Amino acid sequence: MSSIIPLLTEVEKAGIAERQALPERYLGLPDAEMDARITAARGKLGNRLVILGHHYQRDEVIKFADYTGDSFRLARQIANRPEAAYIVFCGVHFMAESADVLCAPHQQVILPDLAAGCSMADMAEPDQLESCWEALNQMGVAPRRSSGQAGVVPVTYINSAASIKAFVGERGGTVCTSSNAAATLKWAFERGEKVLFLPDQHLGRNTAYKLGIPLDEMVVWDPNEIVGGVDPDQLKRAKMILWKGHCSVHTRFTVQQIEAIRRQHPGVRVIVHPEVPWDVVQAADDSGSTEHIIKTVTNSPQGSVWAVGTEVHLVNRLATDLAPDRTVVSLDRFGCLCSTMFRVSPNHLLWILEELVEGRVHNRITVSDDQKHWTRVALDRMLSIR
Ligand code: SF4
Repeated sequence: MSSIIPLLTEVEKAGIAERQALPERYLGLPDAEMDARITAARGKLGNRLVILGHHYQRDEVIKFADYTGDSFRLARQIANRPEAAYIVFCGVHFMAESADVLCAPHQQVILPDLAAGCSMADMAEPDQLESCWEALNQMGVAPRRSSGQAGVVPVTYINSAASIKAFVGERGGTVCTSSNAAATLKWAFERGEKVLFLPDQHLGRNTAYKLGIPLDEMVVWDPNEIVGGVDPDQLKRAKMILWKGHCSVHTRFTVQQIEAIRRQHPGVRVIVHPEVPWDVVQAADDSGSTEHIIKTVTNSPQGSVWAVGTEVHLVNRLATDLAPDRTVVSLDRFGCLCSTMFRVSPNHLLWILEELVEGRVHNRITVSDDQKHWTRVALDRMLSIR
């Protein structure tokens, strides 16, 4: 089990209109009562409510989602429900921020538990990015060339704060998800010589490598080191500048686990999420976003055996509901759990919905107006890339 329980950053705190802990009367309720009350509250709210559920949510929560998916798919769903005044996002903070930027002005986005952050998103702070950009400019790497081509196109993974997305949007860059990372890198290289990819070095490295960029044309920028801790000559040669960030859940998967599972289950197919380290992707049979993993496993022949390297709730759902005629196990025998996704409990969902029925909105996520414009530019670019 992962032990990531990140505190909210200052940036996240700034986006929170009101913070309130789960009232005590919502603790210790029997499951059946919670289910019945959530169903009743949903019924009362009708089409004024839409619930979005990320694949890594627990079963007791995701079963109430109107739409399920990865960040990309859920971001696309927002435009489909303009009549919903309330968007309850069962996911983590950065997802709710993106929803607030993409939704209409009359819609309010709610995160059932405000402590549901993301340790990876917290690894890129706006002042660190500003220092990085300034250094890249001073080193002559970032400025636009006389040809009109950008020196560096910044691309941020959707798992980042709105302030980071706004920074990237303002400098001609965009946002990507694990579903569209390859298309996004192609888009970026049509516009610039190099890509600054943040905050997940592994997604950046794995995607670029798949596109044919060798490892020696990638450097890692450590925001805690002077000038990123990179060698200037290496930086000049590099096509990819990878921010030193990672997912605490997906970096638990190892090559040793793959070797062990192949010994244990001869003929097993191993599929992993691209947030895992590069050597793990090389040792696996396939890699891709959660949507790719679901599609690949559910379309595989009946009786096939899969070891899956992603968050345990999705792995278990594949095993029990989505691909029942296949054998699906977690690549990590203990299962890797995202503890911040896990924070969204049915108790929180029930509380939020019953309060909405009474006209009270808690845990609303808002992105400040000064960040909204460029965040929207970056997200719209992402949605336009095919
Ligand atoms: S799985 Fe990793 S990247 Fe996704 S929300 Fe959890 S910590 Fe963040």
